[in-house]
Amino acid sequence: MRIPRFHLDAPLTPDARVQLPAQAAAHALRVLRLQPGDAITLFNGDGNEYRARLVATHGRGASAQVESCVKVETESALRITLAQALARGEKMDWIVQKAIELGVAAIVPIVTERSEVKLDDQRAAKRLDHWRAVVSAACEQAGRAVVPSIEAPQPLAQWLATPATDGALRLMLHPGDGTRLRALESVANAVTLAVGPEGGFGERDLAALREAGFRNLVLGPRILRTETAGLAAIAVLQALYGDW
Ligand code: SAH
Repeated sequence: MRIPRFHLDAPLTPDARVQLPAQAAAHALRVLRLQPGDAITLFNGDGNEYRARLVATHGRGASAQVESCVKVETESALRITLAQALARGEKMDWIVQKAIELGVAAIVPIVTERSEVKLDDQRAAKRLDHWRAVVSAACEQAGRAVVPSIEAPQPLAQWLATPATDGALRLMLHPGDGTRLRALESVANAVTLAVGPEGGFGERDLAALREAGFRNLVLGPRILRTETAGLAAIAVLQALYGDW
């Protein structure tokens, strides 16, 4: 059986004894039925994996003894940021989970002209906590040791006003005329991919994106749903310019 991996948002060092977070402990004890002595892997996003053993269980809690630290190489050399227009409920969760599996480095949920989902600050904060849990679980499953960032949902204009520092090639998915993935001439090591909502980008969105240097990328002559379009583009980017 594959050794179960748990994400822990805490400093880890070889020889440390750590308490598993409540959700991880519940999963380890009740779902996987792990016993003291069983091997587990811990990671905190620093790029390493920490081999550990469950040492004690106490009620609903569990602690582990770290035994060694191993550097893992599961990050793509191509740094992909997915700027995804908010999709409804579970669809967004699905996009976040799959984007992490496909190896994106960061996710920015954006609110566009035709976004059907409206979130007040309180709900946005709750959704962000929920997405962070989705990211964490997807990293556990995918074997990633770097945990991609996910930001609070923000209006497209606000996101575009934040200066980009990574020199990424900026691409927006919009059906119609545009560049094809294979024809991109200069994919350095970073790409930012903007994906529209169910109803597509509006004229103002498109103007703002173009103004900010986004080039139109087309995925063939068919219209894909928002949850398909971004993920398909990420897969092709990984195959052509990343680590597939
Ligand atoms: N109703 C819209 C389509 C929305 S599809 C229209 O007819 O314009 C949802 C999003 O998926 C789009 O905003 C775009 O970002 C992406 N998308 C879907 N199909 C695409 C394609 N063939 N090429 C590029 N982007 C596409």
